Amino acid sequence: MERREARGGTLVLGGGFAGSYVARLLRRRGATIVSHENFMLYTPLLPEAASGTIEPRHVVVPLRQMCPHAELVLGHITRHDRERRTVAVESLAGELEIGYERLVVALGAITRTLPVPGLAEHAVGFKDLADAIALRNRVLLQLERASIHPHDASELGFVFVGAGYAGVEALAELHDMAHAARRYYPVLRSVAQRWVLVDAAPKILPEIPRRLGEYAARRLAKRGIEIHVCTTLESYDGTGAALSDGTVVPARTVVWTAGVRANPLLADLGLPLDQRGRVVVDATLRVEGTADVWALGDCAAIPNTKTPGFVDPPTSQHALRQARRLAKNLAGDPEPYGYRMLGQVATLGRFKGIAELPGLHLWGFPGWFVTRTYHLYQLPLLSRKLRVVVDWTVALFFRRDIVELSMLGHPRRLGD
Ligand SMILES: Cc1cc2nc3c(=O)[nH]c(=O)nc-3n(C[C@H](O)[C@H](O)[C@H](O)COP(=O)(O)OP(=O)(O)OC[C@H]3O[C@@H](n4cnc5c(N)ncnc54)[C@H](O)[C@@H]3O)c2cc1C
Repeated sequence: MERREARGGTLVLGGGFAGSYVARLLRRRGATIVSHENFMLYTPLLPEAASGTIEPRHVVVPLRQMCPHAELVLGHITRHDRERRTVAVESLAGELEIGYERLVVALGAITRTLPVPGLAEHAVGFKDLADAIALRNRVLLQLERASIHPHDASELGFVFVGAGYAGVEALAELHDMAHAARRYYPVLRSVAQRWVLVDAAPKILPEIPRRLGEYAARRLAKRGIEIHVCTTLESYDGTGAALSDGTVVPARTVVWTAGVRANPLLADLGLPLDQRGRVVVDATLRVEGTADVWALGDCAAIPNTKTPGFVDPPTSQHALRQARRLAKNLAGDPEPYGYRMLGQVATLGRFKGIAELPGLHLWGFPGWFVTRTYHLYQLPLLSRKLRVVVDWTVALFFRRDIVELSMLGHPRRLGD
């Protein structure tokens, strides 16, 4: 197996929010990043990529541009040898062994599923760019199918399970898109669409203040979206979703956004994990019992000096602040990590949003405007910001794009 050393001695596992920012902030010290993709996905804008408001390529940031001093190895991490300080990678061009002096683990989380009959076979997730593009194509294909079978209620039945940010924002955006698209399907103008939001908790968006959560629920209900709280998905057979409150929703689309769990690969890396499979770190983000391994982001249980007794929730806001602290700690200025959340923002489709800021709660258009401004500020690289601004501006003046592109990535064979 070919062996090489990490650039600047620092090996970063994962090029998501946490890993990419650590490598970027290490600047000329350099690092080697190992990741599946050559980009960092800005997940808060994923719902808008799904609805086509933003071009999908514009919600991802090329790692080579974002971290110009880092080396990037695309591949799948398979093993970690703590004694020899090496990590094995199945890279695009064969197996590699990468040696390190400092290891940063930022492998993120995967969708947490439950043993619901039919879920794995028929439901879809909403976690990465491929999910967003596939979901958009699916909703548009359902409109095409429904235009052939307008009396089959399952064609235009859409159930989202999980009313956290990802589920609520994705549902609101796609609902907007499907309703806007109706004008191009004369046969569907009088056919009802059924959009349903399901959550086991007693309210939607449990992370935000009650008043904003209630506003979001009212907005969605006003648009005809059914909300079932204190309810779970009991089973799904591909055409009907059975809920625990006795409702059966005819639906060919069920989207599962009911939480995440730490990357299962962590169990093979020989690092201490908590009961939820997250890496255990100390206040400086160093992995317990090690001298040269750090962890951050969704894959770790991060203690926060500003919220004693609680570990950080899995959000990009926190991953970014952890990365800032860790880059300084790695540069030889170790201090405990502490971050107090400044607020929370979310969009609820076109021109509607909610924003919780210190001492200020905004909803409706102001909430939407603040949400967009915040994301524009946070999105790395000026070139990405400008592309997103252009997409938003075009969306203000033109109708939604309804092209369905599921054939992308599957070109016809020569001669077909
Ligand atoms: C749809 C959606 C919307 C969200 N919206 C918001 C929001 O509005 N606000 C907010 O604060 N947070 C939001 N989040 C949460 C936020 O995205 C995460 O908290 C953040 O991405 C965590 O960063 P991370 O680096 O730990 O993990 P990730 O960003 O998931 O990165 C993990 C990286 O590890 C790589 N990787 C994993 N396994 C391997 C392997 N075996 N080999 C090689 N590479 C590997 C992956 O390819 C990826 O690059 C959202 C999440 C989702 C899914």
